[in-house]
Amino acid sequence: MQLTERVHLIGSGRHGFGLTHPSDCHVYLVDGGTEAAIIDSGAGLGRDAILGRLDRTGVSRERVRSLFVTHAHADHAGGAAGLRASLGVAVHASPEVAAILRAGDEVAASVTVGKAQGGYAADYAYEATQVDTELRDGQRITVGDLEVEVVATPGHATGHTAYLVHASDRTDLFTGDTLLFGGVIVLQDTWDCDVRTHAASLRRLAMHPHDGFFPGHLAFSVTDGDRHVQAAVAALDRGTLPPNLL
Ligand SMILES: [Zn+2]
Repeated sequence: MQLTERVHLIGSGRHGFGLTHPSDCHVYLVDGGTEAAIIDSGAGLGRDAILGRLDRTGVSRERVRSLFVTHAHADHAGGAAGLRASLGVAVHASPEVAAILRAGDEVAASVTVGKAQGGYAADYAYEATQVDTELRDGQRITVGDLEVEVVATPGHATGHTAYLVHASDRTDLFTGDTLLFGGVIVLQDTWDCDVRTHAASLRRLAMHPHDGFFPGHLAFSVTDGDRHVQAAVAALDRGTLPPNLL
């Protein structure tokens, strides 16, 4: 599903548009011309459906060289191993997320909690994957004629990373679970979710102007994306928290 000249949605589950497996987050493809990248992998249960969606974009599998992971939760990262094996992509993640992915650590990724709450089947396996690059805040990685900028946004989960994708004519923000449409946040009763850290990350996002706003679930905006971050920060400025999804 093409969203802009350079952004496609190739996966999306029950908290989105039902394109692929119900457990999948939004899986985005960004097309830099000579090279393309995927942002978040989905849970791994809908890999074939995601690859089918990729094939329909017109971007050849050979052009997809990298996978940027926002955080270790299974709906965003459980499919990383499968996409790495299928496409030969290099996996990029923060050091904290890389450690969880390499170990396939279901406790650290809060998969154990998710299973107990019924979010994942008891036999769901969170597959370990190699991570090729550990990202640092502010780093820029070239994807064809695009530049992907790393913005550390911990709070929803440890090592959470948002990505700014800079093109010659626009900048798009991919927020993972740090911020959803309308300034909604996602705080959960998990070991690494931290309100104050999260609030600081929202203020950091507000320092990065952007056009498109592409979160990990629910609706997105192709233009005027800044309004979502501004809504969240306005709540913080009033001394309260933005509305929570759950
Ligand atoms: Zn999450």
